[in-house]
Amino acid sequence: MANASDIRDPSINELRQNLRKLLRKELAPRVEAQEESGELDHAALKTMGKLGLAAPMLSEPYGMGDLMAQVVVAEEMGYVCSGFGLSELASVCLFGSNVDRQGTPDQKERYLPGIASGEKIGCWALTEPSAGSDAVSIKTRCVREGGHYVVSGSKTFITNAPIADYFMILAREFDRDGKPLGGDANGFAGGTTLIVEKGAAGLRTGQPFHKLGHLSSPTGEVFLDNVKVPMTQVLGQPGAAFLGMKTSLDVERAIFGGLGVGVMEFCLHAVVKYASQRKQFGVSLLEHQMIQEKIADMSSKLDITRSYLYSVIRSIADGRSVNKEAAVAKYLGAKYCMEVASDAVQCLGGYGYMREYQVERCLRDAKLFEIGGGTSEIQKMIIAKQTIKGLMEARA
Ligand SMILES: Cc1cc2nc3c(=O)[nH]c(=O)nc-3n(C[C@H](O)[C@H](O)[C@H](O)COP(=O)(O)OP(=O)(O)OC[C@H]3O[C@@H](n4cnc5c(N)ncnc54)[C@H](O)[C@@H]3O)c2cc1C
Repeated sequence: MANASDIRDPSINELRQNLRKLLRKELAPRVEAQEESGELDHAALKTMGKLGLAAPMLSEPYGMGDLMAQVVVAEEMGYVCSGFGLSELASVCLFGSNVDRQGTPDQKERYLPGIASGEKIGCWALTEPSAGSDAVSIKTRCVREGGHYVVSGSKTFITNAPIADYFMILAREFDRDGKPLGGDANGFAGGTTLIVEKGAAGLRTGQPFHKLGHLSSPTGEVFLDNVKVPMTQVLGQPGAAFLGMKTSLDVERAIFGGLGVGVMEFCLHAVVKYASQRKQFGVSLLEHQMIQEKIADMSSKLDITRSYLYSVIRSIADGRSVNKEAAVAKYLGAKYCMEVASDAVQCLGGYGYMREYQVERCLRDAKLFEIGGGTSEIQKMIIAKQTIKGLMEARA
């Protein structure tokens, strides 16, 4: 069984305490205004960066090479404002960690200091108008011409796109005769990742989308019209982007799971606080057994999600494959987060439906966990596939 104190590493616990203090003092009072304006609280992100609290998953000297510490950062951000956390993680965990894992020394030196300090904002752009769950069907194409690539296409639903300094673009590579690299325009071979910087000729972003939740995390489109990208801006092995994504997505899904844990913890605390003060039928709400039953449910779901998430992170750190486990963590974490946030609104009654108590924001935010980074249906497909494979192999 895990709770926040299950982490034994004193440096991670210290990081949690420092970040908690910072976010609750600096970010929390501004959350309502940021959600209203739809803007990321960049000042809070920079403060986190300055104190070395933004990117512990990045390797030294940019971070501390610790995935568990990044989950803790995600939890603390989720507790205060999941919208802020979503943008922070898109920059650090999607853009930054991919540069950290696959980048050349020059790329790391160019991009990671700004990402770790929060001064610069990164985004990771895979999804397209016609390619979501079926990610390898992307139409954005890159063609090698001499010493550079020419990239054209469009991306949508990209976290941080409207405010990003750095864009990680996944494209399908074609030769100059129009033949796809790897021979199949829909296969796992042939994907190439390119880093494009804000201001590049032919790169354009759209207006931030209006959406249900995560309002302080700007989401938008990216348009690439014959953008010239030098070969030095290719990340990792050309043609291998989709293959690498299979494992990097497992790590990313686990880290983002920390946001949901933070949201659930906030909901549980909000319910206990409210129910201890609110009286109906002459007694505190806490004395009503149906409220206690909800608290028991919420607390169990929080504990189970956190515990499982920590075990997935430990498995990753031990070098084990977690394809199924990361999908289970994402699927169940999202489902439980929705249920916990909904119960929190219910326990607060009409007040829960009002903005002031913030649990309504949690309910709106929770829905994204069932969609972004691979929907719950896709997670269940992975779980079923891996379960069947494992059982068939055990029988053989
Ligand atoms: C706020 C927000 C932020 C995001 N940030 C990013 C980002 O930073 N970078 C990025 O690249 N993307 C981002 N996304 C995109 C996100 O990853 C996609 O929305 C998600 O992968 C689903 O793709 P889709 O929306 O095209 O839905 P679709 O793939 O069209 O799916 C629609 C529905 O059909 C179901 N479905 C699809 N295929 C199957 C199947 N085979 N079997 C059963 N059901 C199926 C899905 O589960 C879903 O319920 C973001 C999305 C949102 C909403």
